[in-house]
Amino acid sequence: MSKTDWITQEIETLKSQGLYNRIRTIGSPQGAWLIVDGKKALNFCSNNYLGLANHPKLVAAAKKAVDEMGVGPGAVRTIAGTTTLHLELEKRLAAFKGVEAAITFQSGFQANTATIPVLVGKEDVIFSDRLNHASIIDGCRLSGGKIIPYEHCDVASLEAVIKENQGQFRRAIIITDGVFSMDGDVAPLDKIYEVAKKYDIRLMVDDAHGEGVLGKGGRGIVDHFHLHGKVDVEIGTMSKAFGVVGGVVAGNATIIEWLRLRGRPFLFSSAVTPPDAAACLAAIDLLESSTELVDRLWDNAKYFKTEMKKLGFDTGVSTTPITPVMLGEAPLAQQFSRDMFEAGVFAMALGYPTVPQGKARIRVMISAAHAKDDLDKGLEAFAKVGKKLGVIK
Ligand SMILES: *Cc1c(COP(=O)(O)O)cnc(C)c1O
Repeated sequence: MSKTDWITQEIETLKSQGLYNRIRTIGSPQGAWLIVDGKKALNFCSNNYLGLANHPKLVAAAKKAVDEMGVGPGAVRTIAGTTTLHLELEKRLAAFKGVEAAITFQSGFQANTATIPVLVGKEDVIFSDRLNHASIIDGCRLSGGKIIPYEHCDVASLEAVIKENQGQFRRAIIITDGVFSMDGDVAPLDKIYEVAKKYDIRLMVDDAHGEGVLGKGGRGIVDHFHLHGKVDVEIGTMSKAFGVVGGVVAGNATIIEWLRLRGRPFLFSSAVTPPDAAACLAAIDLLESSTELVDRLWDNAKYFKTEMKKLGFDTGVSTTPITPVMLGEAPLAQQFSRDMFEAGVFAMALGYPTVPQGKARIRVMISAAHAKDDLDKGLEAFAKVGKKLGVIK
């Protein structure tokens, strides 16, 4: 027996259950079309909602920053790694979000694992939506606080667990995803806020899939629900609609200051590089100058979903450009994805543990980068493969 036999066995089990994920390799910039494993394919997988990942203005800004500031951050922010670009980005993000202050991190994942432990300790309680993102769950675990899940997007369930636990903890916080990435549904943040207010509990939302998508010109879920000044902490990422990389925490200035002093990924890990920060600034310029890309994203999403429903597919409960195509068992979803790839469409199958058992799906990510003709090609492939595999008639 070798020391890694147990791992080999676990991997074999995944393969036999159709849950083994073979990662495909991209050989081109992001866009409506990609080179995937050496072959041209229509891109239905990226979180590049607005097509900014290879936008000429972002690329130019990044190049200029490389020329002026180089490629590396040099040190962690607290020692010698805070550049004028980082500070400018934080100022612009706060203004874009309509909040007092913002602080950036290496990623959205790090933003969550930084924020929750500085706000929550062992004596505290976290009320957490059952389907929250893995980085929220990890942040909650790192905090040492008591984690009490409530049923997904269910305000009555949230209120019930709050009542059950009233008076038993020092402080409390409610944490929810804004847009849930697997189903594309939106947290009822207005109603959650009413509960938070009633019980005087802090409220934190992770807007990773809402920024650049929801709200006026993509200002996010807080803007969408007109809750300015009412949500204590907003987490965001620059890796999705912003098209770059990095995380952000936006909100109350005291909380942001506390993160600068105590957020472990801020203190002990270097920041994004100058070209990353510069490209993010260019993304904000674009978003602030016009709603055109956000509008196109929504037009594309509405068109695609309507046509998929006409074909007879079940696109679940999504109310955003995230379009799950519900298939049931993981092996069927994987077969569907392979057949789509044969037909020239890159559309990933998602199975357990990313989604619950028996809820495997193909998740289509619609983008402003898609032309109508691209969407039609995708629909044609879905119709063909769906009929072949007996998913639609
Ligand atoms: C994608 C995502 C993250 C992670 O963002 P990265 O910047 O890629 O680390 C965090 N939270 C949610 C809800 C996400 O969807």
